[in-house]
Amino acid sequence: MTTRRRFIEILPLGAAAFLVACSDKAATPAPSAAPAAPPPAPVAAPAPAATESAAPVAGASLPMVDEKDPVAVSLGYVADATRADAAKYKTYAAGQICGNCALYTGKAGDAAGPCPLFAGRQVAAKGWCGSYAKKAA
Ligand code: SF4
Repeated sequence: MTTRRRFIEILPLGAAAFLVACSDKAATPAPSAAPAAPPPAPVAAPAPAATESAAPVAGASLPMVDEKDPVAVSLGYVADATRADAAKYKTYAAGQICGNCALYTGKAGDAAGPCPLFAGRQVAAKGWCGSYAKKAA
């Protein structure tokens, strides 16, 4: 009788365990289930603007030479040639300006341009310094 009583006691537990086992199988996806969605395609990098140019524009964004700069002072540079120290620089003559100096690399008509004596900066086209050399015609 003990065995029968014991069977009756554990029968609900066994049934419950069976139901739990069945419900776990129902919740578990089958191995042949559809694969997960493929990863998203990589996003292409934005193309550079067609109007941009990698080449720097010579002299376009260079700072102007300061007349008080030590190199400028030593060369007698002035942003306006009419203020050149003619007493100190005997070679100065009216009409000499950076714009018609052989060392000036700015474009004709520009207000300023590069000069190799002042690397990384630009001089006024109407400026002058003691190193002036007439540009060949
Ligand atoms: Fe101007 Fe010529 Fe002197 Fe350069 S070398 S600062 S371009 S005068």
